[in-house]
Amino acid sequence: MMIAVRRRVASAFALLLLSASAFAAPAPPPRLVVVMVVDQMRGDYIERYGFQWTGGLRRLVDGGAWFRRAAYPYLTTVTCAGHTTISTGAFPRTHGIVGNSWFDRDLGRSVGCTRDASLTTISYGAPVEGGEGPSRILVPTLSDELRTQPPVPARVVTLSMKERTAIALAGHRADAATWFSAAAGGLVTSSAYTSAPVPYVAAFASANPVSADLGKVWTRMLPAERYLYTDAGKGEKPPQFWSAEFPHALKAKGAVPDAQFFEAWEASPFSDEYLGRLAITSVDALKLGQGRRTDFLGISFSALDLVGHDFGPTSHEVQDVLARLDRTIGAVLDHLDRTVGAGNYVVAFSADHGVAPIPEQVAAQGIDAGRLDAAAVRQAAQRGLERALGAGPYLVRSQGSDLILPADTVEALRRDPRAADVVLRAIKSVPGVAAAYFAEQLEPHAVAGDRDARAALVGYFPGRSGDLVVVPKPYWFFVSADGSAQPGSATSHGTMYGYDQHVPIVLFGNGIKPGEYARAVTPADIAPTLAYLCGVTLANRDGKVLTEALAPPAPTVQRGR
Ligand SMILES: [Zn+2]
Repeated sequence: MMIAVRRRVASAFALLLLSASAFAAPAPPPRLVVVMVVDQMRGDYIERYGFQWTGGLRRLVDGGAWFRRAAYPYLTTVTCAGHTTISTGAFPRTHGIVGNSWFDRDLGRSVGCTRDASLTTISYGAPVEGGEGPSRILVPTLSDELRTQPPVPARVVTLSMKERTAIALAGHRADAATWFSAAAGGLVTSSAYTSAPVPYVAAFASANPVSADLGKVWTRMLPAERYLYTDAGKGEKPPQFWSAEFPHALKAKGAVPDAQFFEAWEASPFSDEYLGRLAITSVDALKLGQGRRTDFLGISFSALDLVGHDFGPTSHEVQDVLARLDRTIGAVLDHLDRTVGAGNYVVAFSADHGVAPIPEQVAAQGIDAGRLDAAAVRQAAQRGLERALGAGPYLVRSQGSDLILPADTVEALRRDPRAADVVLRAIKSVPGVAAAYFAEQLEPHAVAGDRDARAALVGYFPGRSGDLVVVPKPYWFFVSADGSAQPGSATSHGTMYGYDQHVPIVLFGNGIKPGEYARAVTPADIAPTLAYLCGVTLANRDGKVLTEALAPPAPTVQRGR
């Protein structure tokens, strides 16, 4: 059926081309740019699970420009890095967001990518300590440029469950950048964007309390036989309040909503549905796409990431989150058709990273797989340093693939290549480690054709990334207490293997030529392509315009000149 739809679209285009006059005008800029990100959506979910979809996901894939070979080219495939790559059109080496958190050498501790002590949280619910903002994003986002360059600035709205995703999509200013906080029991924003609650969000929050979902039960939406694989797969690690099998109840420990309820709610499709309703409310409240300007709406759906970490990529839970997201996105697109007008807006659909299969499921097939203990890597580095430089202790810190050493230790190893080699050998002896590099070795190795070093370099930002970079083997990922993956997770992401790097890219609507495209592209190509459609220029970009997906210029009458 999909092929038939595509043929119809293709023949419609052939007719359009035949009727076009010689004098063609560029397509008018979209009235609204919609960037939709699904956290942890693997590129192959479209091929694998797409038959379960009949709503918005189906419409995007069938009616859009689907890039089937899109992948991040860097090592640290995590949420904050991926969203910032989508929003800026640059890689971490340029935008500086090397991870969800990294070790701040000046502060002597790990810092979250959007954590900002100079800011406060503005809550639509209970008061929340601390602040979050975009100060560590080192280049402007597309939405920043849409606010800045056109004569009539864009209205910018972003929403997500996670602060780092709403902030990364928004950039440095926004009319409303909104996310969920369990501490607030509802929605929040930051003093980076507003000095007071945004009235329409406040009205939405009070009319739609998250606590209204207390007691709801998450069941499979489709008939059970429509789901692939088994419900309770090997190695699944559901949260302690759920089992590995449906149904999953959204319960509190007592009668009132508590931390357990909010954790369950965030990891359920009900949180995605909530964002869909907030998106529709935002379009109406701010008349997005209904003025003489190009507006920006960024939505990052977060439930899939939490569900994928706990249940893995072949679970019924992952399939059900997508089947329900298909409906949620369909409702958003239907609303945009009614308000902005079909063909007047452009959607860019993608993901921030993929996910590895659950190691126990891979190992059961006789393939090497496992969890790489960050503490074991630190201890190995410690032993190597003692062997190379004499009795320690040496302060070794780690953050995902990055190892951080004291500056004088790094200097001593720089002066003594044989000692440096001893340290690398010690790290590589840890089960699950594929490769290890000192930072200054990345470039020469990359130039010599080492693809691991190349991937590490694209994600490397001096001063934020590690003094050493450790690369896991395929089907291994880091587990650590300090950030890169929750120790309890069934699976994770954050490597440069296909299952982590490969994500969907679908462009849809205004100015886009539908079809399937097999060229290898990256999510950094999204912002330059949207910028081109909108007639703005990005200052920094690593990505390129996806020219094959641009619709031919619209036919028009001859203009006098
Ligand atoms: Zn994740």
